[in-house]
Amino acid sequence: MLKGGYAGKVLEVNLTTEKIREISTEEFFDVERFVGGKGFGAAIMWRKLHAGTEPFAPENPLIFLTGPLTGTLCPGSRMCIVTKSPLTGTFCDSHVGGHFGAEMKYAGYDAIIILGKSEKPVYLLVNDEDLDVRNAENLWGLDVFETEERIRRENTEQALRVACIGPAGENLVRFACICVDRYRQAGRGGTGAVMGSKKLKAVAVRGSGKIRLYDTEAFVETATKARNALLRNETIRARKRWGTARTITLTSDQDLLPTRNFQEATFEEADSLSAEVLEKKFWIKHRACHSCPVNCGKLGVVRTGAYAGTVVEGVEYETLALMGANCGIADYEAVAYANMLCDKYGLDTISTGNVIAFTMECYEKGILTKEDTSGVECRFGSSKALIELVKHITFREGIGNQLAEGVKRLAEKLGEKAEKIALQVKGLETPGYDPRSSPGLGLAYATADRGGCHTRAWPTSYEMSGKAPDGTVIDRFSTVKRAEIVKAQQDYGAAVDCLVGCWFVRGTVGKELYAQMLNAATGIEMTVEEFTRLGERVWNLVRMFNVREGFTRKDDVLPQRFLNEPLPSGVAKGQRLTKQQLEQMLDEYFTLRGWDKNTGVPTKEKLKELGLEFAVLQ
Ligand code: SF4
Repeated sequence: MLKGGYAGKVLEVNLTTEKIREISTEEFFDVERFVGGKGFGAAIMWRKLHAGTEPFAPENPLIFLTGPLTGTLCPGSRMCIVTKSPLTGTFCDSHVGGHFGAEMKYAGYDAIIILGKSEKPVYLLVNDEDLDVRNAENLWGLDVFETEERIRRENTEQALRVACIGPAGENLVRFACICVDRYRQAGRGGTGAVMGSKKLKAVAVRGSGKIRLYDTEAFVETATKARNALLRNETIRARKRWGTARTITLTSDQDLLPTRNFQEATFEEADSLSAEVLEKKFWIKHRACHSCPVNCGKLGVVRTGAYAGTVVEGVEYETLALMGANCGIADYEAVAYANMLCDKYGLDTISTGNVIAFTMECYEKGILTKEDTSGVECRFGSSKALIELVKHITFREGIGNQLAEGVKRLAEKLGEKAEKIALQVKGLETPGYDPRSSPGLGLAYATADRGGCHTRAWPTSYEMSGKAPDGTVIDRFSTVKRAEIVKAQQDYGAAVDCLVGCWFVRGTVGKELYAQMLNAATGIEMTVEEFTRLGERVWNLVRMFNVREGFTRKDDVLPQRFLNEPLPSGVAKGQRLTKQQLEQMLDEYFTLRGWDKNTGVPTKEKLKELGLEFAVLQ
C-alpha cells in the first residue's frame, strides 16, 4: 500500500483501440526499485517494447511521467517524457518544467501511457476523473500557442495545463519537441515527432486533488532545508538573476562555446549575446516552474528593429550557443525571433541550431550549393538564413525536408566530407559545449544513454576548478579520474531523474536531502547509498534497453572533429581529444561499471547484483 507521495494511478490510453484503463501505480510498477520518472519509464520500455520496433510504429509507447516529489514543495520537481527516439533509436527521457507534471498528479495520475495510433487527429482531456479522447481535426495544423489557447477556450477552463505539439511534430521532424505552458519544452530526442506519429495533438489536464505525504512535518522541514540551500548558493543566486544566459561569456572565455559549427570554441562577439545585454534590453520578468524558488526563466520582448514585438521566454544558454554563436550570429534579437519560431512550431533549439550550422558549413565548403538550399544563402552570420531554415525544417519544404531528418542522416546522404563535420553522437546533435577543452565531457557525451547530451554528467566544473570531488588535483586537459567522475554523476543523475528533479538544482540539493525528501514523502526507507544504487540500477537497465536495440561499445564514439581537429584559438588552443584518450577513458569507465570491456555490455553478474536478472539477454 502506497503511503504517500504518489497520486496512486497510471492511465493507459490505446489510441488504436480507443480503450482507456486505469491501473494502480503499485500494481503496475515495482515502486521501491524504480521509484518514478525515468525509473518507471525504463521499466515500461523494457517490458512493453520489442527490440527493433520502429519509433514511429504504433507499438512505441509515449509516456508522461512524474516522480513522487512532483507537485509537492520540493524545489524543481518536474515531468519527463519517455519513448524510443526517432532521432537516435535509443531510449529517450526528455524532461520539462512548467506546471503540467504537478497538475497531472493533482488529477490523480503518476503516469499517462499512450499506446497505438489514432486514424484522425485527437487530443486527450483529463479533468480529474473525467477522461475523454476528443477530435482534434480543427487543431491539426495549428501552432503551439494557438493550440493551447484553443483547447482552453473550447473547455472554458483557463486553468487547464496543456502539453502539445506544433507543425514540426505533425510533420515528423525527428527533433520536434512536446511543448508545455507555451514556452517550456521536452526538447531532446524527438518526443514531439512520436506524438505526431500517433496523431495526438495534445494532452490537457486539470486536477483538483491533493498529494498525501507520509510524514508531512519531516517533509516540510527537509524541503525547506533544500529551498534554503538553494537561496544561499551563489551560483543559484546568479541563475536567479541571469538565467542560463549568464553562461555564454563564461564558455566563450573558456574555449567551450560552439562557434561556426564547432570550428572554434570562442566567439569574438559573445558579449552581444550576454545576460547583461538581455537584462538591459530584453527581459521583462522572471518565471518559475512549479514550486521552484530559483525563477530561472526570463520572459523577454524585442523592443525595436525588424523583430520588434517578439515575445519569448529565454533566450536560454543552449539557444544562444547553438542558434547564435554556432551559426556565427551575434544579433540577440534575431536569435530571440528564431527561438520564438522554434517554440511556436515545436522544435528543439539545440538540434535545430546544430543542423543549421552544419548546413552553413556545408554551404561555405561547397558540399551544398544554392540550388540545393532552395536559393537560401546559407552563410555563417546570416540571420535571414537561420530564420528561413527554421521554417523550411518545420514544414519540410525544399532542403528543410532533409534537415528535418537530423545531422546524422543528412551527413550520411551528403557523403564522407560532410560526415567529417557532422556534430552528433548516436544521432543526437551535440549541445553547447566543446569537449576538446573538457575531456571528461567527451566521455560523458560518448556514454550518455540518449546520445550526445550534457545533462547526464557534467565533469567540466571539476576540470575547470582543477580538483576532483575527492580533492585530488587534476589537470584540466588530462583524462585522469574522468571515468570515476562521469560514472558517479551519471548514477546520481539517474536517481534524481527518478524523482524528475531539475538538472539545475540537483548539485546544490544533494543526495542526502533528496533521499530524506523521498523517505518523508513516501515512507520508503532508502539510505543515501541505496539512493545512488537506484541510479545505477536505472542506468544499467537503460543501457540494456539500448544493447537490446543493437548499441554497444562501437557506438560510444565522438564526432570526428573533436578527435581530429585541434582547437584553433583561445585558452585551449591546440587541444583535441585523441582517439587513444577516449578509448582509455572508456576502458576505465567500463571496468568501473562492471561491464564487459570489449562490448560495453553489462555483465550477468552486474545485472544480478542490481536486481535486474530479468534484463539478462540470452
Ligand atoms: S531551476 Fe529553473 S528550470 Fe529548474 S525547476 Fe527551477 S525554475 Fe524550473
